[in-house]
Amino acid sequence: SDGLDRVRALIPAIPDFPQPGIVFRDLFPVFRDPKALEALSAHLTTHLLNLPTDVDVIVGIDARGFLLGPLLAARVGASFVPVRKRGKLPGDVVRTSYAKEYGLDEVEIQKDAIKAGQNVVVLDDLIATGGSAKAAGELVRMIGGNIIEYLFVIELEALAGRDVLDAPVYAPIVY
Ligand code: 5GP
Repeated sequence: SDGLDRVRALIPAIPDFPQPGIVFRDLFPVFRDPKALEALSAHLTTHLLNLPTDVDVIVGIDARGFLLGPLLAARVGASFVPVRKRGKLPGDVVRTSYAKEYGLDEVEIQKDAIKAGQNVVVLDDLIATGGSAKAAGELVRMIGGNIIEYLFVIELEALAGRDVLDAPVYAPIVY
């Protein structure tokens, strides 16, 4: 066992959520189980500490990237920085937009959140088409960050989201 069996067993597939035809993978049952959360955190921490480059910043994507982001950042000695939907972050921000199923989504990052050349891991709970992670990566690059990896708990392999990302992708749980 890789310690993640308990985690896998706690991720249900919810049919027809948030709309008909979509099978939603819910990560919140993992957060209800302290042993599963610890196993997941430990796995991802070990992974991050074994990267060839030190991680300076973990960038978490709105909203479920905010759950593991600060927890992992504290464990690996990185800072945590959020990417949020337009209008949520105070101060100077940079913005990009990307096409979702219905219309455009606009996301922002605080300009002074990353120093030029810092090594960044972009984090979210799950990668589907890769659109959210790609937009977050664009924001990181706009303010000078160096993306060393895109990190997810879950990858939906059939959607080939990793193909739209231009840095290594790691996801321990694949469906
Ligand atoms: P993408 O931009 O890669 O198409 O979609 C990924 C984004 O949508 C992530 O922010 C993720 O939280 C959310 N998402 C899409 N499908 C699922 C799902 O089945 N389960 C969860 N937890 N999030 C999903």
